Amino acid sequence: MAENCSHDCSSCGEDCPSREGGSLKKQPHAMSDIRRVIAVVSGKGGVGKSMTCALLAAAAQAKGNVTAVMDADITGPSIPKMFGVHERARGDEFGIYPCVSEGGVQMMSMNLLLENEDDPVVWRGALISGTVLQFWTDVIWQGVDFMFVDMPPGTGDVPLTLFQSIPLDGIIVVTTPQDLVGMIVSKAINMAQMMNVPILGIVENMSYLTCPDCGRKISVFGESVADAIALEHGIPAVAKVPIDRELTLAADSGKIEEVERNYLADFFDEIAAELAKKAPVASGEKNKEKQD
Ligand code: ADP
Repeated sequence: MAENCSHDCSSCGEDCPSREGGSLKKQPHAMSDIRRVIAVVSGKGGVGKSMTCALLAAAAQAKGNVTAVMDADITGPSIPKMFGVHERARGDEFGIYPCVSEGGVQMMSMNLLLENEDDPVVWRGALISGTVLQFWTDVIWQGVDFMFVDMPPGTGDVPLTLFQSIPLDGIIVVTTPQDLVGMIVSKAINMAQMMNVPILGIVENMSYLTCPDCGRKISVFGESVADAIALEHGIPAVAKVPIDRELTLAADSGKIEEVERNYLADFFDEIAAELAKKAPVASGEKNKEKQD
């Protein structure tokens, strides 16, 4: 039972034995092998959630971990483009296979299933969450040490369903320094806390800009709020990513794995160290063996 059980299972993601109607968690594909699952969330769109997800995956892979990204942002899928992956995913009688980037990152995204990657996805919430859940249940993810889930922005129906259905080891919250965004991000944090998913860290994206002439840090969107939010909610790790043209260019040209300065490399180490203290949550058969 959750530590602070409200006895209201509809607003709780805890997979406890006393859950009404049984577990909501979905099993991954029987041939999948996924050790850690981390969701990347934001209170609203456009703050750099996909950028954060891509940089974390690139950092994890560069450090020798088998890494995967599940692009759950169905209506704004940008992960394959950032990694330069434009092929279509293939499947057979066993399931669907993720596409793999040049650096070895496995990924699944709506864009890898569409005939034309520019086609818009104009679906209602239930269809969207059903499709994302299939990325979890029908895709064969092999030997994955770290899977990052690029969540849809906000606290609506789709992220809620995903929180309840996918066993998550933790979440990373992405924000920008604007006050309003700080307030919106608190909603995302509160949702994660209600679902009993640990918040591993907060990334303040577009935190500052370094003046190319004098090297001074300019706070374009106002003073940093990340430390205050982390303190308020007891979040262990904080990273501040500047506005950097190299990131935009790398993302636009599909070369996110080649960025010279991956600002989230140390942050990833902090997250991995924090996770190493806890047993994995994902419940595939192979994971059970690993835990035993
Ligand atoms: P979200 O997933 O939150 O909607 P994205 O990650 O897609 O946001 O980022 C929105 C746009 O801003 C993209 O074009 C991305 O390349 C760019 N961007 C994100 N973070 C940075 C950054 N730190 N520096 C420069 N450009 C960035």
